[in-house]
Amino acid sequence: MNQNHTHYDAVIVGARAAGASTAMLLARAGLDVLVVDKAPSGADTLSSHALMRHAVSQLDRWGLIPALVDAGTPVIRRTVFSYPGNDVAIDIRRQGDAEGLYAPRRTVLDPILVDAARQAGADVRHETTLTAIVHNDDGRVGGIDVIDRSGRSYTATADIVIGADGLHSKVARSLDVPATRSGTAANAVVMRYVAGSGLPSDEYRWLNQAHRIGGVIPTNDDTHCAFISVPPADFRAARHDVETLFWRGLHDLHPDIAAALRVADPVGPFRTFPGHVGQFRQASGNGWALVGDAGYFKDPGAAHGISDALRDAELLANAIVDGDLAGYGPTRDRLSAELFDSLESVVDWSWTLDELPARHFAMGKAMANEHKAVQALWAARRPLAAA
Ligand SMILES: Cc1cc2nc3c(=O)[nH]c(=O)nc-3n(C[C@H](O)[C@H](O)[C@H](O)COP(=O)(O)OP(=O)(O)OC[C@H]3O[C@@H](n4cnc5c(N)ncnc54)[C@H](O)[C@@H]3O)c2cc1C
Repeated sequence: MNQNHTHYDAVIVGARAAGASTAMLLARAGLDVLVVDKAPSGADTLSSHALMRHAVSQLDRWGLIPALVDAGTPVIRRTVFSYPGNDVAIDIRRQGDAEGLYAPRRTVLDPILVDAARQAGADVRHETTLTAIVHNDDGRVGGIDVIDRSGRSYTATADIVIGADGLHSKVARSLDVPATRSGTAANAVVMRYVAGSGLPSDEYRWLNQAHRIGGVIPTNDDTHCAFISVPPADFRAARHDVETLFWRGLHDLHPDIAAALRVADPVGPFRTFPGHVGQFRQASGNGWALVGDAGYFKDPGAAHGISDALRDAELLANAIVDGDLAGYGPTRDRLSAELFDSLESVVDWSWTLDELPARHFAMGKAMANEHKAVQALWAARRPLAAA
């Protein structure tokens, strides 16, 4: 690593789904890229991991499915929507090297993306925190100030600064980037990992009841990630006893699954997310761009944040390489709108149980339309993605 090299084609803040993917694609296209992340290499983050179809097809095209499989990530062959007294199962088709879908732990997926970025030539520095955005004399964003683990501060200048630093993006806040659209609904999540539950390791299971939604997602190390989503008011009322909230919620959702999880071995503590309304931020400006949750966040209920982070990484990388940064935001927003709207109509709890399957159907249709539109986009250009 050349610590003296201070000018890059692109510097990226955040080295996870969005940042590491963008770095990999730009580096594969021949750009000189620096990525910084304040977290240590391989650190975990809050997520239930479920990848959707377009993410898996990108990982396949990027040549990264074998690494996921080698890490013992189970193949998901079916997704099951459970309503009271009624299960609806949908089989997952194979795509290229991918036998189905996958839900890798973030301690697996994010390092795979970071390794791929490094192999492509990107300089990835963990435990390195953005402290300020640097502007050129003409006002254009021109770089970042950072501080590393040893306390050393330095500046890296770049033709473009990319904020891939998550929902509470310091890049976005430093630049006063406005939200261009906000949702109205926000759900709290309580989740935990368990091992040895005996539940299937090849299906996403989505559980539905009035005022409770939940799921069980098989992931690495023979564990399942089980979660419930609740209205924020219920979470606030129960936040000092999330354990009771979790088990009661799961029991209401599916007594048999709750019983299997209850006798399984807990892995780690309960994890919680208080909820945050969905939002789109302006996607780019003079010398900067946002990607992943930094630019577009939605309620975790769609299990789509990682998939959209990978999608937008490729949209942004293409836009930079094509010299069409202004085209990135409108494309992102066009591809996202139908899912965002249909998700809002599920997570706002404005439905009766009889109405819920139709709303899930609308979300499924939105995901299918998005998948089709994204595949058409990738097919229409020479992909950046070859390893
Ligand atoms: C409870 C929950 C469950 C979820 N379940 C799913 C799911 O099943 N499927 C799915 O697809 N999505 C899910 N999501 C959403 C998904 O986790 C996010 O969409 C995804 O992590 C976004 O990736 P990202 O790279 O944009 O940002 P992040 O993963 O948030 O990464 C941002 C990175 O930026 C770094 N950073 C921040 N500030 C600085 C700074 N100042 N300097 C340097 N580095 C900085 C952070 O350390 C972090 O590593 C879930 C989210 C939650 C909260």
